[in-house]
Amino acid sequence: MLAFLKKLNHFFAPQKLEAPAQLVAEELVSDETFNKYAYIISSRIQYFNDLSPELKQRFVNRVHHFIRNKQFHYIGLEPKEEIPVLTAASAVQVTFGLKSYLMLHFKNIYILADAYRMDNDEELYIGHVAPEGIYLSWKHFLFGYSDNLDNINVAVHEMSHALLFNNYFAKYGVDQNFRANYEKFSTTTGPILADVITKRQSYLRNYALTNIHEFWAVSVEAFFENPTDLKINMPQLYEALCRVLNQDPESNQKILKPEL
Ligand SMILES: [Zn+2]
Repeated sequence: MLAFLKKLNHFFAPQKLEAPAQLVAEELVSDETFNKYAYIISSRIQYFNDLSPELKQRFVNRVHHFIRNKQFHYIGLEPKEEIPVLTAASAVQVTFGLKSYLMLHFKNIYILADAYRMDNDEELYIGHVAPEGIYLSWKHFLFGYSDNLDNINVAVHEMSHALLFNNYFAKYGVDQNFRANYEKFSTTTGPILADVITKRQSYLRNYALTNIHEFWAVSVEAFFENPTDLKINMPQLYEALCRVLNQDPESNQKILKPEL
């Protein structure tokens, strides 16, 4: 088991990094854009509704900036303004405590109408992350945000994978604090994962036991979907997630160390 974990950790061994790209300065959104985006986001994402007015402004600015840095592709459905706004909002939610949140490795986001098959694989997918882009089924995206307490949210799940990928394999947009804290996170959570695999039961759904990457993504889903329950059932994991994402979703202030 330990050898298995070490092998997976090795997969995430630090790589040589190039200097991050110079970012375009974030623009403050106009009142009109703020109102339009806030209306769309507040109708679906409770996390946003709990924020103070200042944090709502920060959230919408980030959403706007994120959209400007991505290309959205629509497969089997018509483009609609709510799609990029809500997709960006899911990424901004996960990265809200981080300084570097654009995940610049990913230029392309592919939105599919429903679950899909890949190549010759018979299995149906509702989202995945590949080096060339982030893929999400829109039907399942909406489903993920429709129930706040079931610990299932495909957008949060895939954005967590993308965040990890971006910080370990990408050349640009690496958040050094996240990277350093994730190293600590995997050291802390290694024994938790080993324990839940041995017992074959956990507060987290079974898919978390697949490997350390799925453990990460499923944990982040639970962290945002039902922080109170995760904190009660797996307090060490909850704390480790707070540190690595620099936020506590249970508090309205969210961000733990604003200076990071
Ligand atoms: Zn996954």
